Amino acid sequence: MVMSFQFPAYFTAIFIITRVMSIMKISKPLDVHHKDIRAVDLATKLSVDPSAIESASRDFGGIVKAEPEAVLHPSAPQDIAALIKFSYSNSVPFGIAAKGHGHSVRGQAMAENGVVVDMRSMANNRRNGTGIRVSIDRLYADVGGEQLWIDVLNATLEYGLAPVSWTDYLYLTVGGTLSNAGISGQTFRYGPQISNVLEMDVITGKADFLTCSPRMNSELFYAVLGGLGQFGIITRARIPLQPAPKGVKWVRLLYDDFSSFTKDQELLISKNGRKDKSALDYLEGSLLMDQGSPDNWRSSFFPHKDHPKIISLITKHGIIYCLEIVKHYDDRTKHTVDKVN
Ligand SMILES: Cc1cc2nc3c(=O)[nH]c(=O)nc-3n(C[C@H](O)[C@H](O)[C@H](O)COP(=O)(O)OP(=O)(O)OC[C@H]3O[C@@H](n4cnc5c(N)ncnc54)[C@H](O)[C@@H]3O)c2cc1C
Repeated sequence: MVMSFQFPAYFTAIFIITRVMSIMKISKPLDVHHKDIRAVDLATKLSVDPSAIESASRDFGGIVKAEPEAVLHPSAPQDIAALIKFSYSNSVPFGIAAKGHGHSVRGQAMAENGVVVDMRSMANNRRNGTGIRVSIDRLYADVGGEQLWIDVLNATLEYGLAPVSWTDYLYLTVGGTLSNAGISGQTFRYGPQISNVLEMDVITGKADFLTCSPRMNSELFYAVLGGLGQFGIITRARIPLQPAPKGVKWVRLLYDDFSSFTKDQELLISKNGRKDKSALDYLEGSLLMDQGSPDNWRSSFFPHKDHPKIISLITKHGIIYCLEIVKHYDDRTKHTVDKVN
């Protein structure tokens, strides 16, 4: 998508935005007791509490550790803008990083000597936070960047609707996965989550609030999606919805032969039209290996009674290949779902 922009215009825009955001990453230590920061009404939301600093210094990966000077607990996007504005107004700005649910594996949401913005604080503030708002008529949800996908699912299901593209694991924030890619078993058919966004509200490195979409501020839109927080902070994303499935047929196919496994997978992936009724709704491949406990091969995905058989297959072949497929059905199609494909 990005490549389709006019070359010079795109690179000029990216250069400017990257420069602005890289200024934010220059790590001049922040003096949280500086009189100017007290004056911008942020002091009460900036925490230097050791447990907040410790939590912001780590992520799921546990490989990198980087201590910020402070953690911002915003109650509204305006707090984030005020922090960025304050940093930008310094002769040498301090680093700022948005943190979603901290499930990065290599320090992507850390800001050494700077400020980590704990986006989840806004989820606790229902009055000022951006929340989750569903448009039933127009089939989209306006979702705060701080929201977890599990909460988006629960909110949209209340109206019988659901987003089209997911991550497998749902305890990740909307801002966090849209800054990456967001992939799951729907990606072969609908694209990753970053291909399923209608528009976003972003706070830029100059603390401007901008709405962007494929037609409005499009350079910013495509830079922020998959941009690892380097081009702005997502405070709202408009996510397209479709009717949630009434029922799902869930099948796991096991192979001991790699060629048959990939041949079948490629065949099933080749039927990927959004409106193609024969296309699967979910498809993922995985490996079951003879290593450690049964949990290494997602044993909970299989009926308990099948475990001994699966373990004997793994022991015999050393490695087993699994295709996990799903087909949605409703009252009209429940009698034919087994015949599709
Ligand atoms: C157990 C586990 C399961 C996973 N499963 C999947 C999966 O099924 N599919 C998949 O695609 N990925 C998966 N991932 C990877 C995960 O999607 C990414 O690491 C994701 O970025 C983490 O989201 P987070 O909310 O924890 O964000 P963080 O780790 O907190 O942040 C990730 C990046 O996004 C930036 N960021 C966070 N919020 C914002 C915002 N509002 N605006 C701008 N930038 C922001 C941060 O600065 C950082 O660069 C998994 C990771 C783990 C640990």
